[in-house]
Amino acid sequence: MSLHPTTCHQEISKRPYCGRFAPSPTGDLHLGSLMVAVATALQAHVAGGHWLLRIEDVDETRVVAGSAQRIMHSLQAHGLQWQGEVWIQSQRKARYEQALTQLLTQGDAFFCACSRADLPPGGVYPGTCRDGLPEERSGRAYRLRVDDAQVAFVDTIQGRTEQDLAKDVGDFIIRRADGLFAYQLAVVLDDADQHITQVVRGADLLDSTPRQILLQQRLGLEQPDYFHLPLLLGPDGKKLSKRNFSNPLSDDEPLLGLRLVMALMGHKMPPEIHTVAAFWAWAMAHWDQRLIPRRHSIRLGHTEPAVILQQLQQELII
Ligand SMILES: [Zn+2]
Repeated sequence: MSLHPTTCHQEISKRPYCGRFAPSPTGDLHLGSLMVAVATALQAHVAGGHWLLRIEDVDETRVVAGSAQRIMHSLQAHGLQWQGEVWIQSQRKARYEQALTQLLTQGDAFFCACSRADLPPGGVYPGTCRDGLPEERSGRAYRLRVDDAQVAFVDTIQGRTEQDLAKDVGDFIIRRADGLFAYQLAVVLDDADQHITQVVRGADLLDSTPRQILLQQRLGLEQPDYFHLPLLLGPDGKKLSKRNFSNPLSDDEPLLGLRLVMALMGHKMPPEIHTVAAFWAWAMAHWDQRLIPRRHSIRLGHTEPAVILQQLQQELII
């Protein structure tokens, strides 16, 4: 047995908890991604399981050079240490290719000639190439046939979610026209191959979960539990970005970010915690996922982390 497992071992009778943090290297670690990292590390800790790191760079066109290294540095500065080797999606194309072949062989996937301009407004695929490419058109992308799939699941934080995939999404892309595999396919295979038992991530991915569950079903893979944290929005109501939140985290001042994400997740920490080690000792002893607001998003009241923390602490006292 390896001392540094990169996947969690699967047993027939009992699946040991395995969680992961899976950032995209499209920018630096921000408050929302730190919240996900802290929550998933604590979930793994209280379950006595493993916590793995995966770099989700399947969409190579969006990768920002150096950001994976900066994210790893920030995680360590905040006292977050993953176990084992880091998985990197761009190194797993052979596995994704194998799954695509399986889906094509099963008749679950098809070659599609359509470009965005061929789709109706709203973007739901009308099934044009489902039974073969139209004459004189050549294939560009691969899509999954959704048929009449309705997917429902119970998310730990967001509750019951269901989607009529044919009506809301349509046959969706699993390999893009530029040859890159779609995130939906890659994430499902990575979670299965790393034996992830619980997926902790932001609620912006709640809507893509039914597509991932359908892929798990078609590929014969086990379905993990889902745990979608509220998405953090800037004071302007928009997703956090450089524009509404210019300097959200500092590796030199990790306690501020750590305290802030715990407050956002409903935990009131005592003031006498002055080191990252003391933070983790407290957090591991007091983590209670029932305190997390059961909301799809949280709108921050300010752009200064210290001011937001002060506001939250006042709310938590009341
Ligand atoms: Zn088509």
